[in-house]
Amino acid sequence: MCGIVAYVGPDQALPIVIEGLRRLEYRGYDSAGIAVTGPGLVVVKRAGKLAELEAALRAGDPPGGTAAMGHTRWATHGAPTDRNAHPHLDCAGRIAVIHNGIIENFQGLRARLEKEGHTLGSETDTECIAHLIEEKLRDGGPDASLADGVRAAVAELEGAYALVVLTEDEPGTLVGVKVSSPLIVGVGDGECMLASDIPAVLDRTTRVIPLEEGQVVEITAAGATFTDLDGQPVNPQAITVDWNVAQAQKSGFDDFMLKEIHEQPGAIRDTLVGRVTQGRLSMDELRISDDALRGVGKVFVVACGTAFHSGLVAKYAIEHWTRLSVEIEIASEFRYRDPVLGPDTLTIAVSQSGETIDTLEAARHAR
Ligand code: GLU
Repeated sequence: MCGIVAYVGPDQALPIVIEGLRRLEYRGYDSAGIAVTGPGLVVVKRAGKLAELEAALRAGDPPGGTAAMGHTRWATHGAPTDRNAHPHLDCAGRIAVIHNGIIENFQGLRARLEKEGHTLGSETDTECIAHLIEEKLRDGGPDASLADGVRAAVAELEGAYALVVLTEDEPGTLVGVKVSSPLIVGVGDGECMLASDIPAVLDRTTRVIPLEEGQVVEITAAGATFTDLDGQPVNPQAITVDWNVAQAQKSGFDDFMLKEIHEQPGAIRDTLVGRVTQGRLSMDELRISDDALRGVGKVFVVACGTAFHSGLVAKYAIEHWTRLSVEIEIASEFRYRDPVLGPDTLTIAVSQSGETIDTLEAARHAR
């Protein structure tokens, strides 16, 4: 789960985008980046926390401009490095893309684009989108708008994505697309925003339009226009949000615990999106081969606190589906109690919101 925030309006966009990303921090992430159109297009991105990005921005000359977008990444394809952080650019460095989700057919797209002369510098699935848009805009001729190029590009994408795209050739326009991953529009007074979730826009506006499946939005300071993926106009419903930021971060629930309980079906759905093809689950990013999995004779799940409780549920599921016996261990006890580990033991360490030293030590002991 990552965070997306974009702003266009009369004010300096960068501080608004950074504040919006901060509001989405609860979503978790491993790197962060921004793109601003002022004169030209400026991209700054860093692995690590938002603070690393802010330090990099302070160390340089923070880019000025009234349209910008920001991204916090939760890597699925490629390590959490500076280079893999979003935004990703096309060859000419004129089109910037941020993306939440997974592009399933990126390998084929990447191979084709490279054959046609594009140079891709990251390991992500996302980067090919910027190059595809570059290609579509070139093919579309001088009258093609950014939104036209984006629609033509997403026609080739398979998977789950919320995208936001910015180009220096249309500096006051941002284009967003929603296919499976969340994206909302915040419409303010002479300004517009895009975000993964409502808290990111609440400082500026309470008028919110959640994009529906397969919709494209073009925002400028004057407002938002919506189409479907074929370019036909659509009219998604606006809502007025009467929560404050703290309530919005809790989605209106009294506390985070209640919110998280209610979020469980959605969280599971989000985790599986883009990973199920024709009824088969594929989690290539775990890098465990089918043969290695077939050789497993016993499973340990080690975790603390609520993660331990998720392990208790996992035990039922794993035993039911694999007929392997599963032991659940409190991570802080694991390495002291001399667990019976063998070469055919699979140990699954479950982190909570962060890594705890006990869980890390348990994983090391198992290794
Ligand atoms: N799949 C993309 C990546 O790994 C986006 C991940 C995200 O949703 O943050 O860069």
